[in-house]
Amino acid sequence: MTTTGGPDESPSVALRTEALEQLLTERGLIDPKAMDAIITRYETSVGPLNGAKVVARAWTDPDYRRRLLEDGTAAIKELGFSGQQGEHIVVVENTPTVHNVVVCTLCSCYPWPVLGLPPSWYKDPAYRARVVREPRTVLAAMGLTLDDDVQITVRDSTSEVRWLVLPERPPGTEHLTEDELVPLVTRDAMVGVAKAATP
Ligand code: FE
Repeated sequence: MTTTGGPDESPSVALRTEALEQLLTERGLIDPKAMDAIITRYETSVGPLNGAKVVARAWTDPDYRRRLLEDGTAAIKELGFSGQQGEHIVVVENTPTVHNVVVCTLCSCYPWPVLGLPPSWYKDPAYRARVVREPRTVLAAMGLTLDDDVQITVRDSTSEVRWLVLPERPPGTEHLTEDELVPLVTRDAMVGVAKAATP
């Protein structure tokens, strides 16, 4: 169900999904009520705010940051976030010289417990194919221009590993508290197609 639902879904995908759901329901293979409950949960209560809390904690607590980079799934669970599509989250750190960007070239694997459901561009075949071949160009087209000496590492998500980017803490935020940092951490920064916002 990684590609279902969302207001930005194309009509043909939505229709095909509906047809598939109806067929599976008729054959007694799924319970539509249970599916609705899962989708509602990820649409309303699980989203990038969870990931933003993880990142803000890592920016302000060096011990937590170390644990997060060592075992993402466990450190994220410390803050109460776990579940489907988040069983094996690996966190990679962006630095002034290394920039990580996340894709799922095969489909749309994404760390649901910390980011919610993926945006439509993440599922777009054009993004999935191009970001691997020409990441610098794709990032620039999305508004993130990186210097030529910054090394770009493209992280391909799979059913085994879901990547989460720990963005750089923006300059000039040294005086901000953990709670004040949370709103600066955008979904796009945690996918690696943007930097964290500046206050
Ligand atoms: Fe996938």
